[in-house]
Amino acid sequence: MTTHKLLLLPGDGIGIETMAEVERLIAFFNKKSSKNKFETESDLVGGSAYDKHGVAVTDTCVAKAKASDAVIFGAVGGPQWDKVPYAVRPEAGLLRLRKDLDLFANLRPAICYPALADASSLKRELVEGLDIMIVRELTGGVYFGEPKEIVTLEDGQKRAVDTQLYTTREIERIAKVAFDLARKRSNKVHSAEKRNVMKTGVLWNEVVTATHKSYAPDVELQHILADNCAMQLVRNPKQFDVIVTDNLFGDVLSDEAAMATGSLGMLPSASLGAADEKTGKRMALYEPVHGSAPDIAGKGLANPIATIASFGMALRYSCAMTAEADLIDKAIAGVLADGLRTGDIMQPGMQKVGTSEMGSAILAKLENLAA
Ligand code: NAD
Repeated sequence: MTTHKLLLLPGDGIGIETMAEVERLIAFFNKKSSKNKFETESDLVGGSAYDKHGVAVTDTCVAKAKASDAVIFGAVGGPQWDKVPYAVRPEAGLLRLRKDLDLFANLRPAICYPALADASSLKRELVEGLDIMIVRELTGGVYFGEPKEIVTLEDGQKRAVDTQLYTTREIERIAKVAFDLARKRSNKVHSAEKRNVMKTGVLWNEVVTATHKSYAPDVELQHILADNCAMQLVRNPKQFDVIVTDNLFGDVLSDEAAMATGSLGMLPSASLGAADEKTGKRMALYEPVHGSAPDIAGKGLANPIATIASFGMALRYSCAMTAEADLIDKAIAGVLADGLRTGDIMQPGMQKVGTSEMGSAILAKLENLAA
């Protein structure tokens, strides 16, 4: 029997509602499996942590996250915390977890379920069967580089500075993650940067090329300018398998790829750290791409699929439970094929359901599939 320690951080808004559905799946697997057991602990993060502790994440919570096999994260934020000091705003909790756990690799799959191909803003033939993995560098680049400031100049004007900064080591380790993933998929990596106008783009290109030569000559590598990548994602997204890119471009390109697949409510993600040399274990945090959706929070309307699929990724990448992860993917595809839809993915002629009904349907499918 292998025990997996999960830290559940529902956060704020719909994070609380979608995490409740994940907890039902955890209970299901605990009952069903004689080989794997989940031990779970929960804590506050984001606005709810700020309200209780005055910070968006406590040291204790970070320590629990480090000691877990995987963190399952809901979402943070909401208008009631818009005016709290910048350093303790809800998002600071997530940024600190990413930084302290050194989660440098953000994996964002963009998969188009056949039943949802018509919900995409792109034509069915462009997105049907789409399966892309965007690998975004998460702990470096312009979101963290110093100086990062707004200064008032002598003439009263203000000047804002963000610093885009990358080192060889940071680029090399993210490139290796992309090449490793590609080997398990269609063996193709596109590396997106702006070498034509940015020094970090020149270095990115050089280091990815060198890493490819020394580490993964068996994988097909193509370099692409990030703006062209944005265009190609809309023109012909199926040409891509794995796209590796920096923090800023990854933020934008992964949201764009996401829209090809339908809704924010469908999109999971994983953030991984380096593998421990002795145990091979990686720090890991799994979270839906969407935020706390204050407009629908507390109404039982949220689509829980992104959070459930994030839990599925945790089974795949942190718990070596590939068969169970495949079951979750099949159960999601199954309920969609049955015509069940939350409001965000509603289409004419389909059956509209709420958060817990969608969770129940996925659970029922799982029970059938696992029987
Ligand atoms: P959002 O993702 O919360 O919502 C955008 C739109 O998509 C809303 O109309 C919302 O109702 C809808 N939506 C999102 N997830 C859905 C789901 N699962 N089911 C159905 N509909 C869904 O983005 P936002 O409105 O820009 O931000 C709201 C708050 O969330 C802000 O405070 C923001 O800072 C925060 N945020 C947090 C994270 C995170 O925790 N990782 C990410 C993005 C935004």
